Amino acid sequence: MGEFRIRNPVRVCDKLGMAEVGNMGIYLREEIMVNAHLERALFLDRDGVINVDKIDVHRKEAFEFIDGIFDVCRAAQQHGYKIIVITNQSGVARGVYTEADVRMLHEYMVGEFAKNAIEITDVYVCMSHDNSHEDRKPNPGMLLKAQEKHGLDMASSILVGDHERDILAGINAHCGKTILLTDDIDVTTSASIKVTSLLEILQYLLPVFPAGFVE
Ligand SMILES: [Mg+2]
Repeated sequence: MGEFRIRNPVRVCDKLGMAEVGNMGIYLREEIMVNAHLERALFLDRDGVINVDKIDVHRKEAFEFIDGIFDVCRAAQQHGYKIIVITNQSGVARGVYTEADVRMLHEYMVGEFAKNAIEITDVYVCMSHDNSHEDRKPNPGMLLKAQEKHGLDMASSILVGDHERDILAGINAHCGKTILLTDDIDVTTSASIKVTSLLEILQYLLPVFPAGFVE
């Protein structure tokens, strides 16, 4: 491919503000060329990140998408991130709903993303209620399975969650950025970034430049 330069990465960052999200095609094309050899993921927790967190959501009638989630995912997709959902659903183990309920709900969720021009690469669900289960967050099992299956560079990947157990799963899987979505900006967290709205995430989607990149 030869050397490819972005003249002013800082200026590119500036261009990625919320107001500019629909008008950054030329910058996005440059980013994708620079990092075309990498696969990276935007890992999303489900309840409280994709949909409003109500207790034991398992029917589409109760599945309410949070404002901004489609904008964030479209922008991430344009940056070359695969969108992967990572969710604990212990309601199955607790007998509140069934595995079939979860599967049907996720078919609906993926379909709604598709209607908004977003491809969900994969959905990982831990149905166990056992905190020692390798897949149950904060354990990193689901992320590591995704890494293996999809050939992901975790250092270039981002995890977004609304609980500390999500953040710890991201850290345990060596995600490059962990973002806590919270109402309490003063909360103590291990996350590398705190945001109070989904759209704030847009500014953190710029990939880390690959080793050897010369400005
Ligand atoms: Mg959550």
